[in-house]
Amino acid sequence: MVDFRALTEKHRVQILNTYETIWANPETGYKEWKTTAFAEQIFESLGYTLTRAGDIPGFYTDIDTGRPGPVIALLAELDSVICASHPAADPETGAVHACGHAAQMAGLIGVAAVLKEPGALDGLCGKIRLMAVPAEELLEIAFRDTLRAKGTIRYYGGKVEFLYRGYFDGVDMALMVHSSNLSSAGPQARYLLVPGGNGCLLKNMIYEGKAAHAGGAPQNGINALYAANLGISAVNALRETFIEKDYIRFHPIITEGGQIVNAIPDRVKVESYVRGASWEAILEANEKIDRALASGALAVGGQLYYGDRPGYSPLHNDEELSSICADILRRTYDEEAVIISERWDTGSTDMGDLSTVMPVLQIYAAGAAGHGHGADYFIEDKDKACLGGAVALLSTVSALLCDDAAKAYKVIAHAKPLFHSKEEYFSLMDSLFCDDPAIEYDDEGAMVHWKRVRT
Ligand SMILES: [Zn+2]
Ligand SMILES: [Zn+2]
Repeated sequence: MVDFRALTEKHRVQILNTYETIWANPETGYKEWKTTAFAEQIFESLGYTLTRAGDIPGFYTDIDTGRPGPVIALLAELDSVICASHPAADPETGAVHACGHAAQMAGLIGVAAVLKEPGALDGLCGKIRLMAVPAEELLEIAFRDTLRAKGTIRYYGGKVEFLYRGYFDGVDMALMVHSSNLSSAGPQARYLLVPGGNGCLLKNMIYEGKAAHAGGAPQNGINALYAANLGISAVNALRETFIEKDYIRFHPIITEGGQIVNAIPDRVKVESYVRGASWEAILEANEKIDRALASGALAVGGQLYYGDRPGYSPLHNDEELSSICADILRRTYDEEAVIISERWDTGSTDMGDLSTVMPVLQIYAAGAAGHGHGADYFIEDKDKACLGGAVALLSTVSALLCDDAAKAYKVIAHAKPLFHSKEEYFSLMDSLFCDDPAIEYDDEGAMVHWKRVRT
């Protein structure tokens, strides 16, 4: 068996240099032009031919073992989050790698370098697609709306957009490594495997009122900020009706709260997700949430536009893939290196969308410290996060593709994705867009009816 730990170690300097460069140049989703150019140049210097997305950041390349077999995609995410109070945040944009994605590309560069080593592909069949994907973090929705209006993108998550564009056509399964803070599990913990995590519906709401002089004639105005406050409070009054097993989360932010202080605000923008463990749970909660949000607008005689967008599907890590990965990593390190947990993540990722059409596995690698998306997050142990990421992908993909891909074929045979085809999946996604007004008023200003988004 190839010693992937030793081979990865050989490329330590390049892996860590990749990490440091990306950490120092954070960019948010669909804006990762410097990051993608930097990664492309390394891939090309390693001898790879790339297929670039072109009008958005991101690319992929195929490694052919020369023998027929399954196609496995290994992914790394390019984007950062925004946390302006983080000491490493970009002073202009507030962008910072407080979700650790810089470690992902460092790991993928490690994979790319190792797979060019003589003998690295010996005994394997099929193809390995290395892919740099943009825009995992679901943020700056107004900016993505402009990209969508221009026809550049159709979907908000980078993997979803790549799936739509056909970059996953012919791919049988996908793997990635995300860094995580596993410090509470002790120093021996290197990896964590979980069953999956929440999906989400994205809400990009606009409360509409009527502007008027805030001191001179407030009686002539309709206060959209009060409408938004009432709507959010009304959702808070629903929380105990959510069932534990559904893991419902609603966490709004106000992104525009009025234009000038001496006018009654006539437009207030609120963004939130409705997260949950299944699409059924998300859509059921969303009906109640829509009603509560509309009640705020109704109370002041204003209007609400729902602004629903497809978020991400719940992630279901493939059990078979998970057990193959745990087994090989325990043999590569030791028994204690891999934690298998039944914990359901309440965050969301577009890896979930891939999991609705193919078997996937998102492996957590230790090495992060602090709170994800927070001002104290950083990669403390780069060995575990960056080199460990490369070793996890290399070991798992080689376990899957050796012995005529016996294990990969077993995964494919047992897989039960939610949808039979990506078309079926996209038809659900397309049904989730809704910019309708919530309330219909008659000529006298009385409510005719409240419109529920979906029935
Ligand atoms: Zn994140
Ligand atoms: Zn992340």
